[in-house]
Amino acid sequence: MTELPMYVDTDEADAADGSDEPDETLDTGGRPTPILDLVDVGKTYRSGSLSVDALRGVTLSVAEGDYVAVMGPSGSGKSTLMHILGCLDVPTSGRYRLAGEDVSGMQERELADIRNRRIGFVFQQFNLLPAMSAWRNVELPLVYAGVPRAERRARAVEALGRVGLADRIDHRPGELSGGQQQRVSVARALVTNPSLILADEPTGNLDSVSTADVLGLFRELHEQGRTVVIITHEPDVAGQAARTIHILDGQVVDDHAVTAGVAS
Ligand code: ADP
Ligand code: MG
Repeated sequence: MTELPMYVDTDEADAADGSDEPDETLDTGGRPTPILDLVDVGKTYRSGSLSVDALRGVTLSVAEGDYVAVMGPSGSGKSTLMHILGCLDVPTSGRYRLAGEDVSGMQERELADIRNRRIGFVFQQFNLLPAMSAWRNVELPLVYAGVPRAERRARAVEALGRVGLADRIDHRPGELSGGQQQRVSVARALVTNPSLILADEPTGNLDSVSTADVLGLFRELHEQGRTVVIITHEPDVAGQAARTIHILDGQVVDDHAVTAGVAS
């Protein structure tokens, strides 16, 4: 994979607004301003003489506070789309605006700054550092955001409490169940108070009880006004969202609102 690292230290992370606090961007106010706005986005992977068109002309707009599921078969471009939405990679063509900012042509440093400030990530494989305790894993995005040490621990512990792991803060990932590990990674995603949560098959490695658990956390994050985009191939998981987007061969083939409580 050519994707960029999830968290990168950016000295200027806090310089812009002169504060150590993450930007407060949860004021949804019912405004229709899209937080995610893609116009004719293409992504071609090239290695040697081979090229793969992973995304082909994706036009998509997501309103702040929306809860969207992205569905599609393996290889359809879901992870590629999430990498672009999350500023982990940039489109080959087309335009992507995140919260009004055109990020299509940004350099890695600017992208890293945007990731640190705005986005929380959850992955299928948890992506936790095995040698670090739960709270150390959760504080990591705060390290990169330049938050002072004492405040970091307090916020990491608080985030772990919010996912029901107050009694596991010193456990390492290997000492936790899969469901608990994913809850640690949800805590890591929310510790910076991001307005956008991106999750790539977050329940793909979980049993049904842990899946329900993690979906409950996403529902809470959505109810708090955050925008949630969850990639999944499980209809039950997609059924939680307010809107479902289907992609096939790198193109959006269906995009519809989901009636509350009715999985499609
Ligand atoms: P999904 O997440 O829906 O399974 P992906 O976005 O991972 O799909 O992949 C879409 C297509 O792009 C696939 O054909 C895949 O093989 C290809 N692909 C993904 N990442 C890379 C990469 N880094 N280099 C080359 N091809 C890639
Ligand atoms: Mg994938």
